[in-house]
Amino acid sequence: MSSLSSLTITALRAKLTAGEISPTDIIDDLENSNLEKDEAIGGYNSIDFEAARVMAANADLTLPLGGIPIAIKDNINVNGEPCTCASQFLVDSYIAPYDATVITKLKAAGAIPLGRANLDEFAMGSTTGNSSIKRTNNPKDLDRVPGGSSGGSAAVVAADTAIAALGSDTGGSIRQPASHCGVVGLKPSYGRVSRFGLVAFASSLDQIGPITKSVDDAALMLNALSGNDKMDSTSLEVDVPDFTVNIDQGVAGLKLGIPKEYFAAGIDPQVRKVVEASIEKLKNAGAEIVDISLPHTEYAVATYYIIAPAEASSNLSRFDGIRYGNRAENPENLIDLYRKSRSAGFGSEVKRRIILGTYCLSSGYDHKYYDKAQRVRTLIREDFNQAFEKVDAILSPVCPTAAPKHGENSDDPLKEYLADICTIAANLAGIPGISVPAGTVDSGNNTQLPVGLQILGAHLDEKTILRVAKAVEIL
Ligand code: GLN
Repeated sequence: MSSLSSLTITALRAKLTAGEISPTDIIDDLENSNLEKDEAIGGYNSIDFEAARVMAANADLTLPLGGIPIAIKDNINVNGEPCTCASQFLVDSYIAPYDATVITKLKAAGAIPLGRANLDEFAMGSTTGNSSIKRTNNPKDLDRVPGGSSGGSAAVVAADTAIAALGSDTGGSIRQPASHCGVVGLKPSYGRVSRFGLVAFASSLDQIGPITKSVDDAALMLNALSGNDKMDSTSLEVDVPDFTVNIDQGVAGLKLGIPKEYFAAGIDPQVRKVVEASIEKLKNAGAEIVDISLPHTEYAVATYYIIAPAEASSNLSRFDGIRYGNRAENPENLIDLYRKSRSAGFGSEVKRRIILGTYCLSSGYDHKYYDKAQRVRTLIREDFNQAFEKVDAILSPVCPTAAPKHGENSDDPLKEYLADICTIAANLAGIPGISVPAGTVDSGNNTQLPVGLQILGAHLDEKTILRVAKAVEIL
């Protein structure tokens, strides 16, 4: 019999409501049989079984996620638990004094937060290699990265050491690790899900979303997470549909756009083959495949790497050694306290982004960089608006390559930034995107590495991308 931890939310809910298992059985299974696997994977920064057991004993099985444990990326506040952001600034010095709105909502839907999943420090990165706590390995090949920044969340779901997880996506951090680990990752539209209680990286780009073993599970979780929140002024006051309804409708009659810029040079030929095979299957299932152009794609990386660091430099100014986390000892004066605390607390990638962002915003340069980037951002958004007049959804690779080996790009940040080319435009435009497993490529040493198909939708049209993703999953 397969272990309970390998089952989807949907399958576990059927067993729970039929009375075949209890929520405590799932927690036991995660603790006894599967968690030792995490020694090899390194997906969790901490995990509190005791708190989960109390919630499991009181779980209301009539609720949509009743009794389901969910791993939480370690940059989302869960009351009473550490929230390290994988940064030495917060390790051993910060315990969350409140629940993020997504945690309140998950609990209200009956779910049980269980375990803090590793990430790149403050979610800055694409490999989880910028974590200051530990290395996370890709469950499909331990010599390779799980992707990032939600690498811990994707790895624990793929390794069956979690049922499902929450991640955050500022430039691809849910979709790209999902693609590298062979699971489903959904970035909702900007404003669909409250960001209150997510430690901010770049506030105009960040969104929280689910990483799951199936498309149905992603829809179930999105139902629980969505909705307006007075604590986040950017969360939208719009109706929340039931994302599970019509998910099985198939793709017959849908127009699916193929943006030529996302298939340009730089995409690994094996990755391209997997993505093209999936497109062919969707065509055979009745979708109309339409060639489109998103002409400003080539500026997306440059635009993102001005806006995201600019916002990060502002957001991270709250880490001053006084209000949060670790404080340097024996400072000579206030400025020295800031300098020493920040120098010791932040890792090199975070420092690089703060320096870059501060430079872009500094007087005399803000017009040259930040304002210009905002104008290009509008053009990128316009590209998508025009495309969605012609098509219902857009298909592309998630990442130009499958998961790289540990350390492969670590001495070349620019190379790592360029690999974000397929995911970051969706954040700049605020549209939803999902990565769904599409196939595998040969790593060259007898391992098959997963590759995801990315499906992008019009703003607030998560229903269509879930429907296309479901078709990919079952074809
Ligand atoms: N790789 C991108 C970056 O390093 C995206 C990170 C994210 O989405 N959090 O900024």
